[in-house]
Amino acid sequence: MGIFSKKRRDADQPPAAGQPADSRMAFAQQMKEQARQLQAQAQAMQAQAMQQGAAYRQASGASAAGAGAAGARAGAGGAGPMTWARQVMAILAPPQPGFVKRCTCVTCGAPKQLPSATAYVYCDYCASLVDFDLRQACEGDTLPGPEYVALVNSSQAASQAAVAASDRDGYRAIQERIFSAYVANVPMAVSHRARNDQGYRQAYVRYMAEAAVARAFDPAYQLLEAEMRQRVMGLRYTGNMLSPTVDPDSFWPMAGTLEKQIELSQAHYRSGGFASIDPDRGEHLLPKMAWSGFCQGWLGLLPTDAAARLLQQTGLTSEYVPVAAVDGQPRHCGGCGAEFTALPGANAIVCEGCGRTMHLGDAEIPCASCGATMTLPAGADETSCPFCQSLVRRAGIF
Ligand SMILES: [Zn+2]
Ligand SMILES: [Zn+2]
Ligand SMILES: [Zn+2]
Repeated sequence: MGIFSKKRRDADQPPAAGQPADSRMAFAQQMKEQARQLQAQAQAMQAQAMQQGAAYRQASGASAAGAGAAGARAGAGGAGPMTWARQVMAILAPPQPGFVKRCTCVTCGAPKQLPSATAYVYCDYCASLVDFDLRQACEGDTLPGPEYVALVNSSQAASQAAVAASDRDGYRAIQERIFSAYVANVPMAVSHRARNDQGYRQAYVRYMAEAAVARAFDPAYQLLEAEMRQRVMGLRYTGNMLSPTVDPDSFWPMAGTLEKQIELSQAHYRSGGFASIDPDRGEHLLPKMAWSGFCQGWLGLLPTDAAARLLQQTGLTSEYVPVAAVDGQPRHCGGCGAEFTALPGANAIVCEGCGRTMHLGDAEIPCASCGATMTLPAGADETSCPFCQSLVRRAGIF
């Protein structure tokens, strides 16, 4: 009714002098404006991709250990693309409560049984890093703060100068500053072990910086970075700002370059003896972390079938199994108070609440004040009771 009446009113209006010509002019103007906007969008997309490439190069060597994930995510422009990806792809939905990623510990052979709070999946029996869960990682997308971005940008000239002068120590020092800031600024992107375990934090920063040195001073790796820049430049976009899409034909060569970068990073890991300085000893997870970071950045920009193919080819399609009804012993973390399950025969566990490691052979200690019992984190002789803040000391230490 409303539509008809509007039409009639429009039709009833006598055309003012010169109106048709004005309409055509207005229409042409509108088309021109639309074209300009599309062009601006394309430029924005390209800039976003370049930024992503830069973040990727900076943090990732990707591969080197998981900061890649964050780097690519940072470049992806925050929650936008991932939010869209989640809408179109159930495959990226977070794991259901009560389910755990099916995986087995490479260190002790135990299957993962207890739920994991973050993308870093630790063994319930020996506290080794078992797996990296892309779907969990997608839940925690955060952007680095402006201070971190400023630090990275302001360090670029000095980094390049250090490489030009073959100054590995200088380059390493810059990288250590950057990764320290990264751990502090983007805690969601790194292992929860970094939250309260100072030893882990320092080791992680040192390892990441060392891996960055290996990449920066390897001419073969630098060639691959140049190749990656070209691949990113060669991406073709369709769609609009709300649902931009990368043409898969222009995308696969970029994935091919990443594959070569991952292989080279693995070679660096072995030749550089990184297993001795990587606090997670995660060589087996290098490809998975690199691909996860890459996928976090790009999945949301791919057509669904190409996105599914990328997950398939990179082995990132995950199976989830129900958390087993286990006959474990409930205990509490002396660091944060979180309840955890000590499975029969388990030796060590990483607290999902605070990231501290606990040796399960240690007896539970009661708080003299409130009576709560807790397991003290490895290496700690005392703690402030997480329930009443009284001092709790390890047995035998007075
Ligand atoms: Zn294990
Ligand atoms: Zn804890
Ligand atoms: Zn207490």
